[in-house]
Amino acid sequence: MAHLPDHLLKGYRNFMTTRYPGERDHYRSLAREGQAPETMLIACCDSRSAPEVIFDSAPGELFVVRNVANLVPPYEPDGEFHSTSASLEFAVQSLKVKNIVVMGHGRCGGIKAALSPSSPLSPGDFIGKWMSLVAPAAESISGNPMMTPIERQTALERISVRYSLTNLRTFPCVQILEQKGRLSLYGAWFDISTGELWAMNNATGDFERPEFD
Ligand SMILES: [Zn+2]
Repeated sequence: MAHLPDHLLKGYRNFMTTRYPGERDHYRSLAREGQAPETMLIACCDSRSAPEVIFDSAPGELFVVRNVANLVPPYEPDGEFHSTSASLEFAVQSLKVKNIVVMGHGRCGGIKAALSPSSPLSPGDFIGKWMSLVAPAAESISGNPMMTPIERQTALERISVRYSLTNLRTFPCVQILEQKGRLSLYGAWFDISTGELWAMNNATGDFERPEFD
């Protein structure tokens, strides 16, 4: 009986023979001393937009939360189950991360579903409710006849990043630390087809290609 799918076992074997030997000491020190990532990254579940791959990061570097369409809900201490908010609380209050990056991406299925609510990704119970977070923005865009479907999609992908950043600031711990200059918030958008990363200009909200040194 197989314990895991073959491709995972093969990948793990590669990891243990190639990557792990070079990082053994690093892993041991992380195990001994615990994690202290400086950056929390909120990204989509989409298998094509993996933050650790895109930012070429080592273990222990990024505290990653992934959910459908990289959304942060508003601060709602209502006793319900809030997985993203719990991760955020842990990153900010326990790990004391210095940066939070919300990264959207092109061809996002969640965003596409939000723009065409009549044909949702799944007929189930959860995606529709989750994507209703950006429903007002989706409605205003989907009614714009001057935009092509691709333009609407890219626009909502980027608006959803700004929306998540706005919601991050509704969390008291985020608000206080940002005001004290101990926490910085960033937005980004990754184009799967070209590998291009666009970074949000915090002053204007526009997405621009970052310059490299
Ligand atoms: Zn996505």
